[in-house]
Order: sequence, then C-alpha cells, then structure tokens
Amino acid sequence: MQDYQFRQNPSAVAEKLHELEDMTIQCMKCGVCQAECPLYQNNFQETSVARGKISLLEFIINGQISRAEEVYPVLDYCVHCGKCRETCSSGVLTDLIFFKAKNILREIHSMSRKEKYALEIAMEKPQVVASLSPVLHAGGAINNALSRVDILQSLKNHLPGSLFRRNVKTPAKKSFTKKYQGWHYAQKETMRVIFYPGCAINYVYDNWGEEITEILNVLGVSVFIPPSGRCCGIPAATMGNLDQYLKNFHKNADEFESAGAEYVITACPTCGYGIGELGESLSGRNPHYKVMDILVFLHDVLGYSQKISIPEKTSLHTPCHYDKNKKGDLQNIVTDFIDSDFVPMEKSGCCGFGGTFNLKNYDVSISIAKEKIEELKEKNVSVLYAPCPGCAMQLHDAAKGTGIKVMHPVSLMNPRR
Ligand code: SF4
Ligand code: SF4
Repeated sequence: MQDYQFRQNPSAVAEKLHELEDMTIQCMKCGVCQAECPLYQNNFQETSVARGKISLLEFIINGQISRAEEVYPVLDYCVHCGKCRETCSSGVLTDLIFFKAKNILREIHSMSRKEKYALEIAMEKPQVVASLSPVLHAGGAINNALSRVDILQSLKNHLPGSLFRRNVKTPAKKSFTKKYQGWHYAQKETMRVIFYPGCAINYVYDNWGEEITEILNVLGVSVFIPPSGRCCGIPAATMGNLDQYLKNFHKNADEFESAGAEYVITACPTCGYGIGELGESLSGRNPHYKVMDILVFLHDVLGYSQKISIPEKTSLHTPCHYDKNKKGDLQNIVTDFIDSDFVPMEKSGCCGFGGTFNLKNYDVSISIAKEKIEELKEKNVSVLYAPCPGCAMQLHDAAKGTGIKVMHPVSLMNPRR
C-alpha cells in the first residue's frame, strides 16, 4: 500500500467510472469467459477473469467498495490477451473497459517514479533506447553464456528479480530501424508499402525485419521503414496511461500518412492492434491505410505461391492479437507456404507473455508457455512457428533445453535463403 499516492478521492473516481457503465452493463455474469482466460485457468480466481474484474468496477461505481485503489492491481493482473472479448457472446468490449478503467484508476493508484521514467524513455525517446542496443546486446550475450554454466545457473535463480533466470534472445547490436530506415525499392516495382517493425523486431528480432523487407522487394514491393522507430504505445495503455498511448498512435498515423502507402505491414499482431483497431476505437480516427499482418498480405494480396519443403515436424502458435478475421485461416496460410510434417497444437490459447505482465509475474507467465512446450515435446515437434515477436520470445524462453526452434515462418520463406 505504501506506493499509493491519493491524488483524488475514490468517490470522484467512481463518478468517472460511470462513463464505462454502458459497456460494463452488457456483462451478464455468465462466466463463459472463464474457459479461455489463461490466468483464470491457472489459478481459478474470479478476480483473474473478466467477470470478476467487471464486477469489482461495478462495486466501485455503486459505492460498495471504499478502497477503490486496491482494484488497480486486480485489473493489472491480466495479459490483455483479449480472449474474454473473443469468447463473450454478449459482445462485452472487455479490452476497452480494462484500458479505460486502468486509466481512470491511475488517479488514485499512480505509477512509481521508476515506472514513469521507464515509460517516458520507451515512448518518447526511441533514439535513447536504440543507443542502448549494443549494451543490451552484450548483456544478453553474457546472460546466455552464463545460462549454459550449471553452477552459475543455480546461483542466478537466487538473485533478485527474474531477469537472470530467463533464456533471453540476444538483442540486436544495432536496431533494425537504424539499419533499414527509409525506402527500399524493388527492382520491378508493382506496389509500395510501409513496414512497421515495432519494438521487439526493432531491438530483438531484427532478422525478421530484414527477411520481410527482402521477400517484399523480391516480389516487386517497395518498402518504407518509418525512421522514427516509435513504439506502438501498447505498454502505455497496459500501464494505464491512455494519453501517452494515443499520442503514439497519432504520431505513428501521421508518419504513415505522410509516407503515403495503401498498406502498413506488421509482423507483430500486438503492434497491429496498437497502430490499428485499438487506436481507431479510442480516438475515432479512421486512417486511409490498412494495417495488415505480413502472412495475410503475402497470401491474400500478393498471392504468394512459392511453397518450400522442410523435413522437420512443425507446429503453430496462433498469437492472441492476430487479425480476428484471419485467425482461423492462419494454419492454412502457413501450411500453404511451408510443406512439412505439421501437427496442430491442442493447447492453442495465450502463451502467457502479456508484455509488462511477464516482467511482473514471471513464474505464472512462463508456466503457461511451458505447458505448450510440454505438449510439443510429447509430439516430437522440432520447429514451432510463432508469428509474433512477443510470443516468440516467451516460447523461446520456455523451450530452453528442449531443442525446439521457435521462428517466424518468413525466416524459412526468404527466397534468397
Ligand atoms: S464478460 Fe461476457 S463471457 Fe464474461 S461473464 Fe461477462 S457476459 Fe459472460
Ligand atoms: S484479457 Fe485475457 S487475461 Fe485478461 S481477463 Fe481477459 S482472458 Fe483473462
């Protein structure tokens, strides 16, 4: 409790939460969302799932809770996977309720100075984050070297925080944007697109960005990489700062519009949600460009048909924020592109990453991913497709020591490979 700073009285916050009543009232308290909520399935606590969180908000609105500031951590115990919204037959907009309620509750549960500072750097000063790449690269390399020494591994388990226990992907030496910003023209240009890498591709999976740019160029598509390297803003939204999130959304939209292309391509479904659907719902802005995942773009727009074969047994993790109209087609798209001994994954839910959730609740987060890896081990899968850099980092961590390779399908599809 000592971190809390009471800037406004809780009844004023209850007044503001009234704004959400049109949305919260849609919840019939049926509990159907329990079945797909990765956190409820992990601890069977009602506060983990949408029904419980919405009930608590209603208790504040109705004056039935006096210590409203204690509800923020309950809302924060969420990977923002959107599974509750997806499964809700009453159409409850759980994602918008959670983001807006967290934003309002920040009035009485403010961020620590450390959180504020980190968020400001990440959102407003991408050039500072980019300049840290060589340090992060060296740190990641050292961490991974240490993780191979058993005696140090057991020591690391007792160090404060969970960072040292992770099997991290070594960050890029130089950010993807620093290397690739600007236009990359196709020799026989038929179309122009913007490729938005987002932070994880920018700083960790820079090879994905390079492979995507190459494939598109080979297929006659000129690619523009926005020089700002700006974050999509989702971390700000999940930390209850919608003003900051919307600032990033609008600045990115302005940058995309001034580059002038019909499509903004992403390989991170969460960024796609951040630069697309979420910002559009919250701001009412309707940009002219379409935000599209790279695999959908290759399949549906370019009609890519150069199937390759690999001898490995493969499987697919479908990211939570993958385009909802294409989620059901993703397996077919991937198997259309890559011929292999493919086995579907039965544990098809969220990987448990959730960005900042993973930093705060590592043990729960990684245990969700490990269940998936256990299934893949039993099925002798050796390659797992994860077309989202957040999911890929999480599954790479969980797969440590199993020999399972986690990758984006584009890494196998590059014609110059
Ligand atoms: S959010 Fe939807 S699925 Fe969950 S309890 Fe409410 S109405 Fe039911
Ligand atoms: S967004 Fe995901 S983790 Fe959060 S309540 Fe909904 S299903 Fe559970």
